[in-house]
Amino acid sequence: MVDLKSQYDKIKETVNVSIQEVLDTNAYINGPEVHKFQKSLEDYLGVKHVIPCANGTDALQIAMMGLGLQPGDEVITADFTFAATVEVIALLQLTPVLVDVDLYNMNISIEAIKKAITPKTKAIVPVHLFGRAANMEAIMAIAKEHNLFVIEDNAQAIGANCKSSDGVKQKAGTIGHVGATSFFPSKNLGCYGDGGAIFTNDDALAHTLRGIVNHGMYERYHHDVVGVNSRLDSIQAAVLNAKLPLLDQYNAARQDAARKYSIAFEGHENIVAPQICDICDCHVFHQYTLRIVNADRNGLMQHLLDKGIPCAIYYPIPLHSQKAYKDERYKEEDFPVTNQLVQEVLSLPMHTELDDEQIKFITDSVLEFLK
Ligand SMILES: *Cc1c(COP(=O)(O)O)cnc(C)c1O
Repeated sequence: MVDLKSQYDKIKETVNVSIQEVLDTNAYINGPEVHKFQKSLEDYLGVKHVIPCANGTDALQIAMMGLGLQPGDEVITADFTFAATVEVIALLQLTPVLVDVDLYNMNISIEAIKKAITPKTKAIVPVHLFGRAANMEAIMAIAKEHNLFVIEDNAQAIGANCKSSDGVKQKAGTIGHVGATSFFPSKNLGCYGDGGAIFTNDDALAHTLRGIVNHGMYERYHHDVVGVNSRLDSIQAAVLNAKLPLLDQYNAARQDAARKYSIAFEGHENIVAPQICDICDCHVFHQYTLRIVNADRNGLMQHLLDKGIPCAIYYPIPLHSQKAYKDERYKEEDFPVTNQLVQEVLSLPMHTELDDEQIKFITDSVLEFLK
């Protein structure tokens, strides 16, 4: 699904020099590389504060801890996403409220959010799924009306833009009260291990978060709040310092591959390709995910695997049907879109190194099965 080897081969020199510097200075934890990355990412995103941490799941958890959410508070999030989002809500003894998504962008449904709000609702966690920004303008309006926090799960969409109706562009992850991202190797900005970060424009919240990532310490050996140990290590920061300047180029390569896929599939009655928005850059294609309609999706997947083409179903089971997150309040009729998507979606290889020949082989193979 990804080709990290070819990508590394092209940037080997800079990455190695950057890592070597960490080894030479022995500043393995909170070294200058981490600080440099924090500043560069703040500049890139146009956000006041970046707080680096150990991984994307921690980033979400720490964001929720920093907002002071209490056990029993209801947190609304999407039914169709990776489990990390709902996992941290449950871990903090908050009450996850899963809601359906929209068919056209696979992101959290605005109508479903509105229906799920109760007096106990405290936060909404939109996930910018597969690299496509959720409708932040509508989500922020609901949050304002009901006095809710918005925590953006931006693990899949770093670099994507959200354009509001007045034409203002902001980076996904920087619009809500707080945003969280992951630098897992296969993410759009990936390091060579685990890594993550939290973003916010709120000075007081940033201060709180910086303490929480470091055992709740604001002054050495003074523990003011219960914190965690969640650090981005200097070697991973060194890798990210070498790769951040290439992020726009990487996202453009993904968009280019997506465009080529979609041209090949255009007009096919069994294929619904993701929309490509040339105007606002709202989709950075962490995944290129098709809907296969009125055709044998699983058969197509097997056909591609038999030809040596990696492909995957993200995600095969709705979160509301997962053993860990079942809740008697959920009714199947509340999740028509997620229940449909898990039957129809198929993600094709998507990374920065796809060439025309590979794309043609993949699209030809899809079309040959569907006829
Ligand atoms: C990858 C991912 C995470 C978790 O990130 P890790 O760094 O693996 O902990 C959270 N949410 C979404 C949507 C993700 O894709």
